[in-house]
Amino acid sequence: MKAVRIVITGGAGFIGSHLVRRWLNEKNEIIVVDNFITGRPENLPAAGNGRLTVMRYDCCNFLYIDGHVDYVAHFASPASPVDYMRHPIETLLVNSLGTWRTLGLARAKGAKYILASTSEVYGDPLVSPQSEYYWGNVNPVGVRSVYDEAKRFAEALVMAYHRQHGLSTRIARIFNTYGPGMRPDDGRVIPTFICQALRGEPLTVHGDGTQTRSFCYIDDLVDGIEKLMMADVHEPINLGNPNEVRIIDLANLIISLVGSKSKMVFKPLPEDDPKQRRPDITKAKQLLGWEPKVPLEEGLKWTVDYFKRLLSL
Ligand code: UDP
Repeated sequence: MKAVRIVITGGAGFIGSHLVRRWLNEKNEIIVVDNFITGRPENLPAAGNGRLTVMRYDCCNFLYIDGHVDYVAHFASPASPVDYMRHPIETLLVNSLGTWRTLGLARAKGAKYILASTSEVYGDPLVSPQSEYYWGNVNPVGVRSVYDEAKRFAEALVMAYHRQHGLSTRIARIFNTYGPGMRPDDGRVIPTFICQALRGEPLTVHGDGTQTRSFCYIDDLVDGIEKLMMADVHEPINLGNPNEVRIIDLANLIISLVGSKSKMVFKPLPEDDPKQRRPDITKAKQLLGWEPKVPLEEGLKWTVDYFKRLLSL
């Protein structure tokens, strides 16, 4: 990427902080806006060679940024079910008011805009794999609605700014992503299972474990986001790994990769937990020339190494 000035909300979060590192390596100037309710300051590089500014700020409020801006990337939002159910109102607001404020900033600066959306816009999908043409099966008042409906609203607002104001916008529908930098208490399945396996505790499988997900390694996702930023594509694009696994098989794989003696315990399936999820990435392949490269086992090994180091501190 040519050196540019990027404002990123949620830059201290899991995906946000990986983007920040990548962009700093590419010599860009980065302004992180984060209120740290789920992001962590320690995710960010200690020094950015004068090219990193970190603002502790809630992007639901008016955003003032000095000077020109080339891109606004809106990545602020609790994203794990445990986090967004713990912060339901903040989740609704950052995806509605926060999206509005960041769109306003992009418009004022003549900047390009990218929204981190989610596969949750498809809800508990009745078709598989999910393509961008599927409109979803979302419970509008269920416990996950605080995230699902907020992201659907955010997408609609982004499209309205594109159509009404001609803003150059992009929408990434991000499917399950994993890798180093996740919090051990994040609640998502991969960090939870890896930490349980490393501690020799039973892995908490929800339901009978036959529900599926498709997991994308973080470096692949960052490549996809960069390609989308540089493309002239305004419709939503799925970014994820189409390799679909059952949660019970994921549990067994993690136990064997860790070499753990952990067993499994079965817990009730949370309300509205999607039964299947797998991206159709035809559009991303055609329009961005992108597809993930890292096989699940390999990405999991690197993630296990990260959690081994973290838990031994
Ligand atoms: N899950 C599980 N045990 C856990 C955490 C999650 O079996 O300790 C299941 C969860 O119910 C879901 C899948 O793993 O079916 C993926 O959950 P996650 O929270 O990672 O993300 P989601 O894809 O549901 O947003």
